Amino acid sequence: MIFPFPHKIYDDVTGIRPEYLQEKGIRGLLLDIDGTLARTKDPEPSPAIDAWLREMQENGIKLYILSNNKSPARTESYARRIGCDWRHKSKKPSTKGFLAAAAHLGLQPHELAIVGDQIYTDVLGGLRSGMWTLMVQSTDTYLWYFPLRRLVELPFRFERRAK
Ligand SMILES: [Mg+2]
Repeated sequence: MIFPFPHKIYDDVTGIRPEYLQEKGIRGLLLDIDGTLARTKDPEPSPAIDAWLREMQENGIKLYILSNNKSPARTESYARRIGCDWRHKSKKPSTKGFLAAAAHLGLQPHELAIVGDQIYTDVLGGLRSGMWTLMVQSTDTYLWYFPLRRLVELPFRFERRAK
């Protein structure tokens, strides 16, 4: 049984620094879009997020979009902007999309981190796949069901204890 505590929790993705990734041997990031790179309704990421994505790439970090969004158009437009590969409808927390992404990038699961805003999809799927899990505070706070989601996530909204 996996208790889905994330390895790290950040206010937003820009808190994820290349030095930390290097220290942990993380060479690639699987990126959630909705609530993570942008709000679910936003057609594109903010300039600050754009700059962060470029910074990751300049530091040799491979990027891949792993989204549960049903829209291939939305997922592809983000991926095209970043210049990375992608998968939509990935059914996180299923490990299938995570492991397919790892194979595609030519990296081992322990060399990858999922960056996402949800415990029961991003974090749980990442842990089941043997990956690092970097959680961000969701940008989707305006959704009517957000308080409910926050409530059910509450038991696991703490970082994993160091071994
Ligand atoms: Mg999300």
